[in-house]
Amino acid sequence: MKAMLIKAANTPLVLETVPDPTPGPGEAVARVLACGAGLTIHHARAGRIAFKYPRILGHEITGEIVAVGQGAADLKIGDPVTAYFYLTCGQCYWCRINRETLCDNSQGNVGREIDGGYAEYIKLPARSFMKLPPGLDWRQHPAEIGVVCDAIATPVKVIRRARVTPSDTVAVFGAGGGVGIHMLMLARWARARKVIAVDVMASKFQSCLKAGADATVDASDGRAAEQLLELTGGKGVDVAIDFVCSGGTQEAALGGLGKGGRLVVLAGHGQPFKAVTANFLRKELELLGSRYATRQEVYDSLDLVARGEIWPLVTEKVPLEQAESIHQRLDKGLVTGRAALVMD
Ligand SMILES: [Zn+2]
Repeated sequence: MKAMLIKAANTPLVLETVPDPTPGPGEAVARVLACGAGLTIHHARAGRIAFKYPRILGHEITGEIVAVGQGAADLKIGDPVTAYFYLTCGQCYWCRINRETLCDNSQGNVGREIDGGYAEYIKLPARSFMKLPPGLDWRQHPAEIGVVCDAIATPVKVIRRARVTPSDTVAVFGAGGGVGIHMLMLARWARARKVIAVDVMASKFQSCLKAGADATVDASDGRAAEQLLELTGGKGVDVAIDFVCSGGTQEAALGGLGKGGRLVVLAGHGQPFKAVTANFLRKELELLGSRYATRQEVYDSLDLVARGEIWPLVTEKVPLEQAESIHQRLDKGLVTGRAALVMD
C-alpha cells in the first residue's frame, strides 16, 4: 500500500510503498477513506513528541473494515469506522470511571506508538475502531466525518468540563485553529450568552464568525484581557478556553475572567505561566485541564453530527501524497479549521 512515512524527527513526510497490513488476533484492518491533519499530528511531525521511526501518523480517520482478525468479532467486513486516539486498557480505575484519557496503562496513541491513517490501510486493535452510527454520509463526506473523533469530541468534552450554560460568556484562545473553530461551534450549540473568538491571525476571523462567534479579539496587540473586559462591560468572561498556552495567552485568559470564571487549558506543548493566587480566592476562579475525550464523548459527537446539530469545518482537502504540504501550512498556522487527506 501507499503510505506517508516520517523517518526521523522533524523531517518531511515521504511517500513509500509498504506491505499491506494483515490483522493478528484481536486486530482489524480498515481501508482509509480520509484522515484529518491537525496540530496534534503536526507536533509529532515537527519532532516535539518522542516516538519510534519510521511511523505512519494520523488518527482522525474515516475507514471501512476490510479484514478482521481472530477474536475481533464485534467488527465485520464493510463496517464504517473511525478511531479512538488513545490506546487505553479499558480495565483500570480511570477507564472504569469513564475517565479513560487518564488510563494507568496507556499504550500511547494511534499514529504515534502504532501506525496511523496517513496510508491506504490502517491496522488497529479492534477496540480502537469505533463503528459509525447510522445517519452519517461517510462515503460522501469522509474528511468531515473523520475529524469528528477529535476536532468535535475534544470541544464536546470541554463544554461539559467547564460546565458551559446559556448564561455564560465564553472566550476561545486560538479560535481559528482546528479545534478552536469547532469549540466556537460547540459553545454556540450550548447556547452560551456570548462567544468570543481570540486569535492573532485576523484573516481567520471571518470563519470564526461563521462558526458561531459573536465577537472577535485580535490578540496580536497584547491587549486580549482588556478587550475581553471591554466586550463584557467590565465583568469579564465566565469561561476562557486556551488552545495556545504560549506567548502569555494563559495570563491574558486569566486576566479576562470574571467572578466564578473557569480557565480550561488544552495545549500539550504550552509554556508555564504565572497566576496571582489572591485572584483565584477573590473571584473563586477554577483552572481545568481537559484531555482529548472519552469513547462515549466520541460517540456523542458522532451523534451530534448525524443529527445535523454540528457540521465539521474542513477547509483544505488534499490527496495522501500531499500530506507534507499540509504540514508546512500547519507549521505556519495558515490552516483555518481542519485540513484532511482524502484517499482516491
Ligand atoms: Zn485504563
